[in-house]
Order: sequence, then structure tokens, then C-alpha cells
Amino acid sequence: MAFTASVISTNEWGAKAPKQWPQQTRPQYIIIHHTATPNPPNDLSRGTLTGAKTLARSIQTAHMNGFGWIDSGHNFLNTTGGYLLEGRHGSLNAVKGGRSIRSSHAGSNKGNESPGIENEGTFTTYQMNAKQWDSLVDLCASICSTTKISPDNILGHRDFSPTQCPGDWLYSQLPRLRQEVRQRLGTSFPAILREGDTGPRVKELQQILSAQGFKVGPIDGIFGAGTTDAVVLFQKFHGLDADGLVGPATWKVLERVSQPTPPPPTDTGTPTTPETTPGGSTPLGSQAPFTQVQLLDTYKYYRELPHQIQAIQWLQGQVSQATLVEFSQKWRNQPTDPFLPLQEGSVGPEVKKAQEILRQKGFDPGPADGIYGAKTKSAIIAFQRSQGMTADGIVGAVTWSVLNLA
Ligand SMILES: [Zn+2]
Repeated sequence: MAFTASVISTNEWGAKAPKQWPQQTRPQYIIIHHTATPNPPNDLSRGTLTGAKTLARSIQTAHMNGFGWIDSGHNFLNTTGGYLLEGRHGSLNAVKGGRSIRSSHAGSNKGNESPGIENEGTFTTYQMNAKQWDSLVDLCASICSTTKISPDNILGHRDFSPTQCPGDWLYSQLPRLRQEVRQRLGTSFPAILREGDTGPRVKELQQILSAQGFKVGPIDGIFGAGTTDAVVLFQKFHGLDADGLVGPATWKVLERVSQPTPPPPTDTGTPTTPETTPGGSTPLGSQAPFTQVQLLDTYKYYRELPHQIQAIQWLQGQVSQATLVEFSQKWRNQPTDPFLPLQEGSVGPEVKKAQEILRQKGFDPGPADGIYGAKTKSAIIAFQRSQGMTADGIVGAVTWSVLNLA
């Protein structure tokens, strides 16, 4: 579903400018509060739109002047009339974009990274009216749909710090709230792994990332900040939305790269050993009178799936070295860059550049000193593995090309 909740923005209710620019976060929860203000008929907003805007302004003033906060402490306010208003500046756009704005509602750093919804009233025993309840469901479902927060992660303020908030009655209704939000989202809502999650699936994720050369910290089944960083790097690397959330699209790529390299195709009936090169020319692997040309090298910007690389390697075994040379001269404007290959023992500016790129991509080549040592070799091996390439720790034309891709 889309973001359907109608939320009155800070502009629309006449908020004061914040003392600081908002800071975006990756939310994990939705945190439910009550304002602990009077219930109808003495409710501060009187159930009206004008009253809702006035209430939003007075809460902001109380939070900024009274508590010295940079802005309203909450991210959203839901009044007795069912009016939804943005709290801290930037919150509405942030959740629409899948993020949140760091706020001050939860009494804990972790909680403040997630959107907090203040519900006008005191819900210790008093029960929320239907209008206000429906708005709460609508807002929670909207936030879940854009941020991919699981409805299971709709929690009460008291789950984050010692407080009665959001009142015993409202707290007792959280299972119903989760259930109604789940229904609103429908069955299409995908299972998303995110920071804070634990279990065997997280461990599997960490194992794959680690095997691909991304540092996740301990492989303990606990999705912490280190795992998020690794996921973000992995996503950037594979051109995915780098949101640190592991949903279906990211899983698909994770599963693809974690598959063992398939054997070369053998269903053509053609023998695949390099010795049986057709054409009667020098077979690969024998003492060729010239530098051996690798078919892969001619694909200057080739970067694809392991089985495709395997296929090219197989194809190469079917062609004579002379044909390869001819092919290579035709398709390559110049011979392999003279500084290649880079390998352990190599020194120079290209090594330094490779080290810098490796670091940017999340690998650890040691200091960018232009000296190709054991650490740089390990990083190259990890990088090559992450690309499904032959992990030999040597930067040839293909590895160099792939390294230099965005
Ligand atoms: Zn609270």
C-alpha cells in the first residue's frame, strides 16, 4: 500500500523553526505514546482542526522552551479529532522516503531513531474513540509501508524507558493495533531483516556477506550496526537501494552470489578440455610463443555472473590462441595496460589507486601506500570472490576494469 495517511505538516500548523537541522535515521520501530492531557470533553484540541494545530504549537513551545529541545520531541501527533500532525520538522518527508528523523520522545537513543506518535489523551483506563484509533492505524500502516518496519515492531514508550506511557489501556491495545496494521498492509508486505533482528536468518546473512568479503563483525545471528554497514556496502556494490534493509531484492542478489560456481557446460557433446582445441593451432596452456591472451581480458568492461565467466572460459578453451590474439587485436584498442598485472610485490601509483578503491568498496587493503603486500592481496581475493571472479589475488585487466567501475 502507499502512504495514505493525511498528515498536517509543520508548515501547515505554523511551527517555529527548529534550533537545529533534522538528522535522518534508519527506523526499526514505531513507538506509541499518550500526551497524558485531559480526555474529552476537556481535551485540549476539542476535537477540532483549529484545536489540533493550536495543540501542536503549544507542545512544540513546551518541548523547546521547557525542555530545551531543538524542536518538538515526537514525530507525529494524533489528536482526539483524529487529526494527524507532523511533530519534529522533516518527519513526514523522512518516513515517506523510508527513514525517520532523530527525535526526543523515547528516552533512549535507540528509540529516538524511530518515529514516535503522540496520541492526545490519557489512556490509563480511558478508551480511545474510533476516529482517533482509525487515524492511528492509518498512520502506522502508512509508515510501515514506506519504511518497511514490521507491524510486529509497533511498541509502547514503556518498552524503551521506565514510564506509564502510553497508559495501560492503550498499551493493552497494541496487539490489536499490530493486527489491524497487518491487515491494512495485506499479505504482500515482505519479510524484511533489519538492524535489531536476531536469529538463524541473520546468521545466514552474515555468513554470506562475510564470505563475499564484507566485514560484518562476529557472525552471531545478531543484526547490529556492523551488519547494517556491510549490507549497505553490499547493496551499493550491486546497484541496489542502499537502505540497510534486507528485503526480497537484496536477498535475491545475496542468494545468487552465494551459490557455488556451476561447472562449465558439458551438454554440447564437445569435449571441454583445453587440449582438444579445434583448428590445429597452439592449445592454451602449452608453451605459446607470445604472451597468452585471455578471452576475458578482451572484455574490458565485462562484469557479470559467475556462470557467464565460466562460459567464456569454456569458450576460450575451444578457440586457438592465434584466433584469440586476432580477436583481441580487433576488439581491444591497445594491449593490456602496461602496469598490469598488479600482484604481491608490485609498487606504484596504480597499487595505491587499487588500495583506495578497495577501501571505498568496504575491503581492507591496509594503508594506501602503493605497496602490494599480503593485506592488499587478501583484499583483492575478497573483492574477486564478491564478484564471482577467479580469486587469485592478482589484478589483471578484468579485475582492474571491474575495480574501476562505479
Ligand atoms: Zn511517551
